[in-house]
Amino acid sequence: MGRVRDPSISRYTAGRLSPVRRAADLRALRDEQFDVLVIGGGVTGAGAALDAASRGLKVALVEARDFAAGTSSRSSKLIHGGLRYLEQLELHLVHEALTERGLLSTRLAPHLVRPVPILVPLPPANPAARVWHRGYYGLGVAAYDTFAGVFGTGRGMPLHRHLSRNGARRLFPSLRADAVAGAIRYYDGQVDDARLVVNLARTAASLGAAVVTSARVTGFLREAREVVGVRVRDLEAPDQPEFEVRARTVVAATGVWSDDMSRMLSDVGVRPGMRVRASKGVHLVVPRSAITGEAGLILRTPTSVLFVLPWGGHWIIGTTDTDWQLDRSHPAASARDIRYILDQVNTVLDRPLTTDDIEGVYAGLRPLLAGEADSTSKLSREHAVFEPMLGLILVAGGKYTTYRVMAADVIDRAMRRLGGAPRASHTDQLPLLGADGYAAAWRDRHDTARRHGVTAGVVEHLLERYGTLSVHLLAMIAANPELATPLTGAPEYLAAEVAYAALAEGALHLDDVLTRRTRISIETPHRGTETMEHAAQVMGDALGWDEAVREREIEHYRARVDAERQSQTMPDDLTADAARIGVPDVRGFAADRGIDLVADL
Ligand SMILES: Cc1cc2nc3c(=O)[nH]c(=O)nc-3n(C[C@H](O)[C@H](O)[C@H](O)COP(=O)(O)OP(=O)(O)OC[C@H]3O[C@@H](n4cnc5c(N)ncnc54)[C@H](O)[C@@H]3O)c2cc1C
Repeated sequence: MGRVRDPSISRYTAGRLSPVRRAADLRALRDEQFDVLVIGGGVTGAGAALDAASRGLKVALVEARDFAAGTSSRSSKLIHGGLRYLEQLELHLVHEALTERGLLSTRLAPHLVRPVPILVPLPPANPAARVWHRGYYGLGVAAYDTFAGVFGTGRGMPLHRHLSRNGARRLFPSLRADAVAGAIRYYDGQVDDARLVVNLARTAASLGAAVVTSARVTGFLREAREVVGVRVRDLEAPDQPEFEVRARTVVAATGVWSDDMSRMLSDVGVRPGMRVRASKGVHLVVPRSAITGEAGLILRTPTSVLFVLPWGGHWIIGTTDTDWQLDRSHPAASARDIRYILDQVNTVLDRPLTTDDIEGVYAGLRPLLAGEADSTSKLSREHAVFEPMLGLILVAGGKYTTYRVMAADVIDRAMRRLGGAPRASHTDQLPLLGADGYAAAWRDRHDTARRHGVTAGVVEHLLERYGTLSVHLLAMIAANPELATPLTGAPEYLAAEVAYAALAEGALHLDDVLTRRTRISIETPHRGTETMEHAAQVMGDALGWDEAVREREIEHYRARVDAERQSQTMPDDLTADAARIGVPDVRGFAADRGIDLVADL
């Protein structure tokens, strides 16, 4: 039976991840037994916790660092069917992903997932080849739309359109005239990946799940040949001993750390069965003014594809696809990665981008099921669910877009183990917090702005990040007008967002706020260093930090940015990694190197 939420408490209040809630959830971890304990607060783990909680199970979610601190904050931020899979005739994958795209953009998270137009440029060629190109790509994009419209649950995206060369350049003036013969415009979904994960975790919490970040699993509890729980270390209380959490089923949704789970059981002869390898993908962020265009681009590269995507006042450009065997917590982008991306995008731009244009750089690791091919870009993106030992179920692979399918699969498996009446997943019917009433709130945004004495732009910004939960930020501003102040160095964000992140979104460190609750670390040329003092002040006021804590948070953030900048000047992975690892995680999560830095904090 699930942890029952007090019916006098609203779903929003129950989903508030405050410091008080963290303390209560930590107590629950120590004292109670759970039906399902999920390890990993990326999109897969948060989705699994929500799926299990919504089936009435008693659920806990533990995350070693912050929500989405792994791969789930470092993606291309597309909710997409994958035009590439269509080309590879993997129609079932396209169908599955387009169904999810429709659900997310229309029902589950319309406040977070929005259509983004993308151009497929048609290369210049002789007339016969041109006809062939248009026919080939046109058919593909038409099939994509048809799949979404006919088989998907509510397409949620406008239809594609063919454009002449002039039409393409009107929409994207920065396209070099001699680089295109025309284009096809299609739509996919775009999401702030880190925000969707926090939203999933909060929605799970609103249904009674105990949700704790900075809680690292260090081993499994076993009885006979069964896993019956985990050992956890609270990284916010490094002096305290590890504690045990008991669960009837443990689900590991640990992405590129999946092999570590089996390794923790190697003493009893458990073999991995499923191997997950890491492939690094780097993105650059440049200001919107560096390229003139009203749509994104998808470009073919020698190894894969490259996206150029509008992102608020910026463009996101990526990605690369190379094997990575170094530090998984802090994958580093090297000068070579950056050069590769610039070279690729410059083949179609009329004004070539240089390193001076770059505002932000981020690198992420794809969790790929290993074994099918040598080149990482050919490995399958499909997911797998695997039970290496009774009581422990691993889920990995897949992609962000299909997190809900992965979550339903792994919790189906957990339900079979738990026995009792089978309850099917119904997360396809469950809007995330902030989604209910979103269309009406968007329609009424000008009224809302007038009533609260803020600009319509502020209300739009809040709605697109918090949905209908925006009312809570507006109420905080009404109670303390200073929170309406724009953040120093990142004026599109308000001080209220920092306070809200700490009081309701489980942010524990400055890095959580500047990197994931907001995206200031990749959206500003100073990478957040001009914002950190102001943000630390607001966060410190909310959480009761003393001067020493504030200073430590600022110093850590500054050191992290310096190390990242340095790594991005290094010629290759080895030297970039060496430059980056000089600064450990603020939580001392150093398991990848076998060094325990917690005591140093
Ligand atoms: C460059 C790039 C671009 C991508 N673009 C897209 C895209 O546009 N669209 C799309 O659909 N997909 C995309 N993907 C794929 C997608 O991002 C991933 O498939 C997805 O984010 C993986 O999520 P996850 O939850 O499985 O893993 P993660 O997000 O890595 O989560 C695993 C979590 O487990 C935690 N953890 C590990 N060990 C422990 C432990 N011992 N105790 C507690 N917690 C632990 C980690 O801290 C981490 O937070 C992209 C991937 C990359 C790398």
